[in-house]
Amino acid sequence: MFAGLHIRANDKYQSTIVLLNPDLQATKVYTFKKDEEFYDIMDRISPSILAIGSPTSLPLGLCCLETSCECKYSITGNKGRISEIQMASMSISCFYTARGSISKTLIYRSINISNQLNSKGYKVIETYPHATKSILFQDQPSHKTELSGFQNNYPHTYPFLRLQSDISQWDKNTYNAALSAYTAGLHHSQLTDSLGTPEEGLVVVPALQ
Ligand SMILES: [Zn+2]
Repeated sequence: MFAGLHIRANDKYQSTIVLLNPDLQATKVYTFKKDEEFYDIMDRISPSILAIGSPTSLPLGLCCLETSCECKYSITGNKGRISEIQMASMSISCFYTARGSISKTLIYRSINISNQLNSKGYKVIETYPHATKSILFQDQPSHKTELSGFQNNYPHTYPFLRLQSDISQWDKNTYNAALSAYTAGLHHSQLTDSLGTPEEGLVVVPALQ
């Protein structure tokens, strides 16, 4: 089983997990607010890979994202992580994990969850749903084309969309969690590449041609 996580900045909002079976078909959607609920779900489903669709590491050299801290980027001139700079060079729009980021609460939560799960022995990867979508489809599929299925050379790209009977209920966060879970499944079959460096942190994306 492959799980994808779309996490929100805090427990006031629902975060989403999508679970895919080994055939990459969506079998279950979970929502939670508190981290403890999330760990309970993980212990229950025990996925072979969990893909977190938000940053799980800081730029090399930074101990935090606080502007008041003395920590410094190891690579002068870099304003984000290497994986993010690589994505930008591939015209995949992304937010930089940078000092003073407006998303720092989310990033801290995401890093903490990743570390906790790693220490519990789970296999965790970082994904970026927008990159998965951009690489698999070149351009942005509309909601309508997503639902009607694809006629291109990647017919099984969104198999979970065909199977989930109540897919009309899926919101954008659920799609993002599903894209991360799907990337985990591709990773399991060695159909992915990794951006960034191991020292800093890798982002797993569908295999680049
Ligand atoms: Zn710091």
